[in-house]
Amino acid sequence: MSDFQSRVVDLVVIGAGPAGLAAAISAKKNGVNDLILLERNNWLGGILPQCIHDGFGLEVFQEPLTGPEYAQRYIDELKDLKIPCFLNSMVLEVTPKKEVFVASPEGLFCFIAKAIILAMGCRERTRGQICIPGSRPAGVFTAGVVQNLINLKNVMVGRDVVILGSGDIGLIIARRLTLEGAKVHAVVEIMPHTNGLPRNVQQCLIDYDIPLLLSHTVTEINGLNRVESVTISPVDENLKPIKGKEQRIPCDTLLVSVGLIPENDLSKAFGVELSSVTAGAIVKENLETSVHGVFACGNVLHVHDVVDFVTLEAERAGKSAAEYVLGKSQKMDRIHVETGDGIRYVLPQNICTDADLELSIRVLCPGESVSIGFFDDQKLVKTKKFVKVHPAQMIKVKLKKSEIMALKTLKVEVLQK
Ligand SMILES: Cc1cc2nc3c(=O)[nH]c(=O)nc-3n(C[C@H](O)[C@H](O)[C@H](O)COP(=O)(O)OP(=O)(O)OC[C@H]3O[C@@H](n4cnc5c(N)ncnc54)[C@H](O)[C@@H]3O)c2cc1C
Repeated sequence: MSDFQSRVVDLVVIGAGPAGLAAAISAKKNGVNDLILLERNNWLGGILPQCIHDGFGLEVFQEPLTGPEYAQRYIDELKDLKIPCFLNSMVLEVTPKKEVFVASPEGLFCFIAKAIILAMGCRERTRGQICIPGSRPAGVFTAGVVQNLINLKNVMVGRDVVILGSGDIGLIIARRLTLEGAKVHAVVEIMPHTNGLPRNVQQCLIDYDIPLLLSHTVTEINGLNRVESVTISPVDENLKPIKGKEQRIPCDTLLVSVGLIPENDLSKAFGVELSSVTAGAIVKENLETSVHGVFACGNVLHVHDVVDFVTLEAERAGKSAAEYVLGKSQKMDRIHVETGDGIRYVLPQNICTDADLELSIRVLCPGESVSIGFFDDQKLVKTKKFVKVHPAQMIKVKLKKSEIMALKTLKVEVLQK
């Protein structure tokens, strides 16, 4: 990489979505002056400019903002703080020595950083990744692409639509297409429950009479040049289609909204240890990854339900990176957090703090009147009760300093009634 011009900096933040913006602002406010933000797009704010619906900012600003409005608050602050940001700048490679190789219109650069914050967001899973059989006609899109086409490019994608996947993006796009005059014939979900927030099910499907078919999947896409119909089938308890129960829904468009994958190709290539459950980095509570001085936040770390939590997490990553750059003391991992029955994941996976701490927890199944237990060496040391839990909704549980100091191990599990 000898054609790259080199420059030494204290901190490089990769990705200028809500996570990267908040992390850079927080690092600067916590004393890092020599930092840069790198973004491959020619705009700031990541995915938010295409999210023109409201519902952002309820936690951080206590008001419902659209995605662009939410992003603008951080873009303004970034500018006020004079944090340098390079747009159209694609990070090609990061090395374990924290060299960040970048291609930008100004040329090829290598930033040699003391610390790095990974904030690259995630990408959508596609039809190919879930192997739906059938022909390959026009009219099959991912939901995020359709949102971009409608909201930013003023392009309508179809009139008769089926949506596969009931995560928040699928729900929001079902409402958007309906408002634009399309008929959404069904949102088809393989699981026996939706994967979206309850408020989005109400506001995007129920309020618009859009049918939700749980425990169903698309088993074939039909049509030669353009989608003409999709075949859907109910699934059994192993999520396998039940033969003989198929039905065809005539449509010209299928939207696939079947999950997001954290963009960790860069991270993996330079040795950041990833979790097989979250597909993001394994971190301790200061959001430092397995590579010293490299921190992760936002959707590249784990897929978030609301942007406000992305921001709050990114602010912590910025503060931690600042402490690292300024040489404040680092502690060793003390406890590895284990997940038990009913728990999909807990973040952070490693704890080394001796201060108060907030755990982010996702359950596997929805439930009412659920208790989550915290075990130290098989002894129940804390219980937290919830009126309702849902896999789409992140649960936050605070552990006090005194509770953490007393722990030798930690296992989190849903308690049987
Ligand atoms: C369709 C949709 C609807 C949503 N609706 C809501 C909602 O109603 N309410 C809510 O709170 N949240 C909502 N969200 C979620 C919210 O938008 C995300 O949680 C948030 O955008 C994640 O922020 P991020 O910075 O981690 O990722 P992103 O916003 O994806 O930003 C990541 C940035 O990193 C850049 N990048 C990646 N790789 C590189 C590289 N190699 N070099 C340089 N730059 C790179 C990308 O270009 C991108 O700009 C929605 C999301 C989607 C997709």
